[in-house]
Amino acid sequence: MNTQQQTPSAVTRATFDEVMAPTYKPAEMIPVRGEGSRLWDRQGREYIDFAGGIAVNLLGHCHPQLVAALEQQAHALWHLSNVMTNEPALRLARKLTAATFADRVFFCNSGGEANEAAFKLARRYGVGIDPAKHQIIAFDNGFHGRTLFTVSVGGTPRYSQGFGPIPAGITHLPFNDPAALEATVSDSTCAVVVELVQGEGGVIPATPEFVQTARRLCDKHRALLVFDEIQTGMGRTGHLYAYQHYDVIPDVMTSAKGLGGGFPIAAMLCIERAAQVLTVGTHGSTYGGNPLGCAVAGAVLDIVNDPTLLAGVRRRSQQLCDGLDAIGRRHGIFDPVRGLGLLLGAPMSPAWQGRAKDVVDAGLRHGVWCLVAGPEVLRLAPSLVIPEADLAEGLRRLDAACAELIGQRAHTTA
Ligand SMILES: *Cc1c(COP(=O)(O)O)cnc(C)c1O
Repeated sequence: MNTQQQTPSAVTRATFDEVMAPTYKPAEMIPVRGEGSRLWDRQGREYIDFAGGIAVNLLGHCHPQLVAALEQQAHALWHLSNVMTNEPALRLARKLTAATFADRVFFCNSGGEANEAAFKLARRYGVGIDPAKHQIIAFDNGFHGRTLFTVSVGGTPRYSQGFGPIPAGITHLPFNDPAALEATVSDSTCAVVVELVQGEGGVIPATPEFVQTARRLCDKHRALLVFDEIQTGMGRTGHLYAYQHYDVIPDVMTSAKGLGGGFPIAAMLCIERAAQVLTVGTHGSTYGGNPLGCAVAGAVLDIVNDPTLLAGVRRRSQQLCDGLDAIGRRHGIFDPVRGLGLLLGAPMSPAWQGRAKDVVDAGLRHGVWCLVAGPEVLRLAPSLVIPEADLAEGLRRLDAACAELIGQRAHTTA
């Protein structure tokens, strides 16, 4: 225990290093307030938010309609558990099934949990047909969460190393390689798990041919096609869900991140035939379907599931792409931008290999918050309703940040 008693309000960034598990290394600044696409830190410095809480704050910070939904529910009912159902959860499930391919919904609290539910469902589904039908096929550099099952399905071996025996029966293939799928999917496969845009893996969109091949092979071998839409869902790509962009319908889909617009909630959605294996008692969650989360997510969905809003995402996407490409060309720092909608990645140019994090740090010095997707890609995932003026201002600040980096480099190599 810390012998020096400190008042809890006297926290600083150094407090993190004393009392938090050392699994993160957060930025020096500590934001204390947000409004729309702007954030303020303890010193009152203002930042343009191009990160959106890692593709979560779909409607920016403290959106008035979400605040109202949360406040209203906070005065009505906070929590019951799944011993009883509740109106916000039932309403949200109705809206999600009406808006998507899905017949049924399982609620939980995070992306990792939604995928855990999807993978457990896939296993029960497959094993119910044939005990040998338990192979899960996933892809290199895919990301599906940090539980032991989801890191094992994820395609970054480093994330599952050092934790002892990991779940077996998982095969990893190269992403966007239809021939590898063709050669591997068999009657032993219970699921093929795809991110339609690999997010953490570097903002890499799946090719239509790859997604179509996965669908065809799952049909042929009675396997479930699982789309992890935790990052791509809820309007992020300019469609409510990215499967609508590809026009390929999955059997199971997971949604989290943007679903609650900043309130923790996640969902596993699926077709009737798949849902039937989750009989009473086979899976569960204490908080899953919590009224507060479901009330907020219902309000998010009402706002996002709107053709005008989605058209706005595509328009902002173009503005951000053009701006980033111009910065990349001016400073020779990025290669052409990739991604879908407002999930964009600017790969570092050969001269700037491995230095995406330096761009993020320089951005913070210039008042704009961006993300990385691995060491080689600058990732942007702003609010879907970021004002076009804030987009322009954020791009100006990012341009200044890149100019500073280029200047430093000129200095050190001189
Ligand atoms: C973020 C993410 C997850 C994990 O979500 P958590 O809420 O962090 O558990 C899973 N899959 C994808 C594609 C993600 O982007």
